[in-house]
Amino acid sequence: MLCESRLRFSGRYGKKSFTRFPVPRWRMPQNLPTIKQLLWRGRIFMEDVDVVIVGAGSAGLAAARTLGAAGLSFKLFEAMNRIGGRAWTSDQHFGVPFDIGCAWLHAADRNPYFPEAQAAGWTLHHHDMNVDHLYYLQRKASEAEEAAMKAADAKLFELLAAHEVGDGDDDRLSALLARGQAPRAAATFAGPMDFGADEDEISICDFQAAADLDPNYFSKEGFGALVARFGAEVPVELSTPVRKILWEVPGVACVTDRGTIRAKAAIVTASPAVLAFEEIEFSPALPDTHFGAFFDLPMGMLTKLPVEIRGTRLGLAPFDDLLIERMARHDIYFLCFPFDLDLMVGFVGGDFAWEMSAAGEAAGVDFVVDRLCGIFGTDVRKHVGRAMMTNWGGERFVRGAYAAARPGRSEARATLMQPVAEKIFFAGEHLAGPLMQTCGGARLSGEAVARQVVAQLAAK
Ligand SMILES: Cc1cc2nc3c(=O)[nH]c(=O)nc-3n(C[C@H](O)[C@H](O)[C@H](O)COP(=O)(O)OP(=O)(O)OC[C@H]3O[C@@H](n4cnc5c(N)ncnc54)[C@H](O)[C@@H]3O)c2cc1C
Repeated sequence: MLCESRLRFSGRYGKKSFTRFPVPRWRMPQNLPTIKQLLWRGRIFMEDVDVVIVGAGSAGLAAARTLGAAGLSFKLFEAMNRIGGRAWTSDQHFGVPFDIGCAWLHAADRNPYFPEAQAAGWTLHHHDMNVDHLYYLQRKASEAEEAAMKAADAKLFELLAAHEVGDGDDDRLSALLARGQAPRAAATFAGPMDFGADEDEISICDFQAAADLDPNYFSKEGFGALVARFGAEVPVELSTPVRKILWEVPGVACVTDRGTIRAKAAIVTASPAVLAFEEIEFSPALPDTHFGAFFDLPMGMLTKLPVEIRGTRLGLAPFDDLLIERMARHDIYFLCFPFDLDLMVGFVGGDFAWEMSAAGEAAGVDFVVDRLCGIFGTDVRKHVGRAMMTNWGGERFVRGAYAAARPGRSEARATLMQPVAEKIFFAGEHLAGPLMQTCGGARLSGEAVARQVVAQLAAK
């Protein structure tokens, strides 16, 4: 992990009241430890706050800032030893900032991070996806094939716009592709590289609800660094997973390894996969509608395989898009030499990305280098430097890239946007409306839910 383990407390929220659940004197056990001993063991009950927030990714940090601005007290718990969640820039692999998670500032005209990046003097490059180089296995596609692929891409979006899913209709994106006979190359971006899922696992309704994300910008300093900057002043308790949320008590009580805290409401920004795996126990259990919705929003997968290529540009220009179509969705896309850095950034998505994660980093890196050698010649091997593979599936408190609704289950997003008992609220990329799956969308979701909580607490 990049960031040092740290606990950040703000004096503003640091009221010293330690006895939240007083034990009647007649039931007091003998030899009670002192407050100091309890503190040492980390078992002390923490002070009450208005709101507990679970997760310090884009959504959780945004919720915290919104609550703070409205004058509400909060405690923000983060399971990892850093903030940012899936927004994480690291220079430990290549000596330059590299985004392990989100990288493109999508929908820049609606993305709150974009003006902040501009104001911070970030180096930004406008980069909308456009296949500059298309290969079928090792053969370069002809101009006619490239034109056919682009026409198919346009046709796919035309079909999507016109499509109405009726009761009992097949809601899988693959059904639409079959009808439109759009070649699979066009669907590679729509499916594995965009939604992180293969087209038979993507709901047409869900896909329709997702916005077109142009214009897209790429930053040299890193999207993760931008989110870290956004959250830099937010008090966060790092390395503190919330284990349990009790909600039959007045308000809620959140149990962590460091103690229990009570609040009037909780905002939970953990991914639906984390919730489906029951990393947080709810007591009593959540209603079936909500619990079921976690399973209807499984995480798609996008795996990055950046490889350093030194001393040659392989005849490619910085930011070229190169797509290699293979069999059975074993496709790979490369973002070539962004900002003229010595990096070919490979991406695999959907089921293939999960398979690659299981095979491990060495297999992933070999796969990428072999594909490059297959196209540009074995000489490429001499130019290969450092390489790595991201592993979001193995990140216990994320468990995938981003959520995509199961076919026929797209209403799960609306279900989770309803709070439970007016005190457990959910937020995150999976509840970001048209900007679903994006980091900017996650922030807007966190802000919107926090405003909802502020209004509700004010009305009580
Ligand atoms: C490889 C990859 C590439 C991507 N590319 C882009 C891109 O180019 N552009 C873009 O906009 N988006 C992209 N995304 C998506 C984007 O990163 C996410 O949509 C966004 O960062 C999600 O933010 P979030 O706050 O909803 O969730 P998260 O970032 O997952 O934050 C939730 C936090 O909750 C914490 N948590 C979970 N359980 C607990 C618990 N029990 N107690 C305490 N804390 C807990 C987690 O550790 C995590 O930090 C990409 C994602 C991946 C994985």
